[in-house]
Amino acid sequence: GSAAAVDLQTAHTVLLSYLQFVVTSVSDSDELFIMDLDGRVAISTLAAHEGQLHAQDLFFKEGQSTAYIQRVYTSQETRRPTITIATPLFDQAKRPVGVLAGHLNLTRVDRIIMERTGLGVSGETYLVNPSYEFVSAAQPDNPTFKQGGIHSTGISAALLGKNGQGLYFNYQGVPVVGVYNWLNEQGVALMVEISQAEAFEPARQMALSMAEFGLLASLLLAGVAYFLARQIVRPILVITDTAQRVAAGDLTQMASVVTSDEVGLLASTFNQMTDQLRLLYQDLEDKVLERTTELVLVNAHLEQEIAVREQVQESLHTQNNYLEALHETSLGLISRLDLQELFEDLVRRAGQLMGTPNGFIYIVEPGETEIECKVGLGLFARLVGFRLSPGQGLGGTIWQTGEPLIVNDYDHWSGRAKNFEVGIIHSIIGFPLTSGHQVVGALGLAFDCQECGDQNFKDYQVEQLSRFAQLASIALDNARLYTAAKEARAAAEAANETKSVFLTNVSHELRTPLTSIVGFAHIIKKRFDEHIYPQIPAGESKIRQMAGQVDENLAIILSESQRLTELITNLLDLEKIQAGQMNWRMASLHMRDVIHLAASVTAALFIGKDLVWTEEIAEGMSQVIGDRDRLEQVLINLISNAVKFSNAGQIICTARQVNGEIVVSIQDLGIGIAAADQDLVFEKFKQVGDTLTGKSKGTGLGLPICKEIITYHGGRIWLKSELGQGSTFYFSLPLDGLPPEQPSKQNNGG
Ligand code: ADP
Repeated sequence: GSAAAVDLQTAHTVLLSYLQFVVTSVSDSDELFIMDLDGRVAISTLAAHEGQLHAQDLFFKEGQSTAYIQRVYTSQETRRPTITIATPLFDQAKRPVGVLAGHLNLTRVDRIIMERTGLGVSGETYLVNPSYEFVSAAQPDNPTFKQGGIHSTGISAALLGKNGQGLYFNYQGVPVVGVYNWLNEQGVALMVEISQAEAFEPARQMALSMAEFGLLASLLLAGVAYFLARQIVRPILVITDTAQRVAAGDLTQMASVVTSDEVGLLASTFNQMTDQLRLLYQDLEDKVLERTTELVLVNAHLEQEIAVREQVQESLHTQNNYLEALHETSLGLISRLDLQELFEDLVRRAGQLMGTPNGFIYIVEPGETEIECKVGLGLFARLVGFRLSPGQGLGGTIWQTGEPLIVNDYDHWSGRAKNFEVGIIHSIIGFPLTSGHQVVGALGLAFDCQECGDQNFKDYQVEQLSRFAQLASIALDNARLYTAAKEARAAAEAANETKSVFLTNVSHELRTPLTSIVGFAHIIKKRFDEHIYPQIPAGESKIRQMAGQVDENLAIILSESQRLTELITNLLDLEKIQAGQMNWRMASLHMRDVIHLAASVTAALFIGKDLVWTEEIAEGMSQVIGDRDRLEQVLINLISNAVKFSNAGQIICTARQVNGEIVVSIQDLGIGIAAADQDLVFEKFKQVGDTLTGKSKGTGLGLPICKEIITYHGGRIWLKSELGQGSTFYFSLPLDGLPPEQPSKQNNGG
């Protein structure tokens, strides 16, 4: 333990003294230190720095693997521009044990610059400020520093603002060939000099005359100066400035015992650094420029974006308001069915949308040759009732062209109707109102000069109004259709009423005489048959024959009168039902009872025909609610037809309960009904198939009455038939919701 500690202490001391020696020997080194593998400073020439952590510093990270020079950066500790050189340390087994690093100060940069002109051994380039000091190293401890400044003929000329060259003694008293330039931009003199001894050496060798060579040398030097002035001076100034600021710190007290080897080494290092610095600065400048440009661009872009966004927001807001207004308007308009009210509403709402009190609507009444102002608001109030021909004024023009019209300078518009003095209307806009492809009117709005100032209609307003006009067209169509439908219905109702009254009256008028005709014909026939005919002697065959004809005619009068009575009864019934004047006596009833009743009433019709009545009535059917007499009427009608239109076979009546309904059918095997006629039989006065035979067998009202009655009960009536195969008529009735019918014996008992 303690032996090792002593060893360590010894090692530390030895290493430190070595480092300190290097630092004091190399004037450019601020601090030398060794870090362990964690980046912690183990030994430093500045004892206070021992223990500091550099794990995150580039020179530590990079310096672990290779010799690394961290370019000029601002040191965290000194806050000064620093260059750090770092290199890995290995033990004998070549394992990394630490990193050796040194901070360098930038004081000597200027010296390097002076040494890199390539002007031979004695060549020197330097800058002099107007105080006759070296620009780059005007410090008392600098080897180039001279109390009272540096002086030479060249310097004096250059500081006077002259450019030139000459042979003179430089500031150290050495005879030189010199070129001097005044760099106005930097406010310094650039001196490029070479000792005459060296300069004239080649001249001697080339055996050139002094004068000749002097010229050549100065040309060469001038070239160098020019090059330097352009390429190097600027970065040099930057570097030397930095170096000076570093040097102005307390680092200056460091001894500068410099061996020529070290100077050489450092020189080449700094040459490199200078190059890098130059590149770095150039790079930085480029980057700054680039970034600035980028920033400006991004900024402009952002500003633009913000503007666009604001615009979008604004337009969204407007759009939203507009949509709201439009929605409300559509609801309001479409429900508005009175035309005049609609017109007023249209103009008012359009005006609200555009923010103007001035609006009008022109409408062409069907068949008219002029378009008429129906509503005028604001300025246009006095135009109501005013008429325009096609192509006249705004309304007439839109009517003629069917196109929207926007006039932003109304006073100078050639088409103006001259209803208004100049200076009243500023801008005016109009849209066609259409019905299908037809223009039926024009909706217009205007900005007047007084109230609205010199406003024009903006694009979005035009767009909005055009949509509004489309909406208005629909509303207009709607209202018009409604009005037309209302009128048509009223007319139809009136006609129907007239017809009903007429029919009822006529029927009553006919029924009274018919009753007499039937009654008297009946009596006459009866008397004739009973009393007159038997009186005719058997030998009077001619008279008998005539009497027979009279009897036949009487029979025809009787049957036709009866048919007419039936027709009138049926007509009146139908009228009554359709007019809602029928007195229905609704009650719960069993269809079985109704069928039996109808069968007994129609039994007489079967006499003399080869027809058989058959019943197939299901047991346990529910009751229905109905008018017994009317349902019986339906059955009698269907049975009569079945008998009427068939000559032989069964007439089958079925009744059953299906899906909550009672379905009754009457089937015959008679002539049947053609498919095309099947839908017609339920229509009034349709006696199908009769056209062939020409004989009239009924009134053509029986089935329509049946349909009315069944429909009133909430049921349906239909048929199935084939020509020549017979027909089946069905009707259904909804159940009454009461429990099913009881077995028949209990029924009878009750
Ligand atoms: P009508 O008093 O003429 O019978 P309906 O309305 O009862 O009037 O019948 C209309 C027409 O339907 C009849 O004229 C007849 O042409 C046809 N029709 C009705 N029932 C039958 C049936 N069972 N068979 C064939 N045709 C029928």
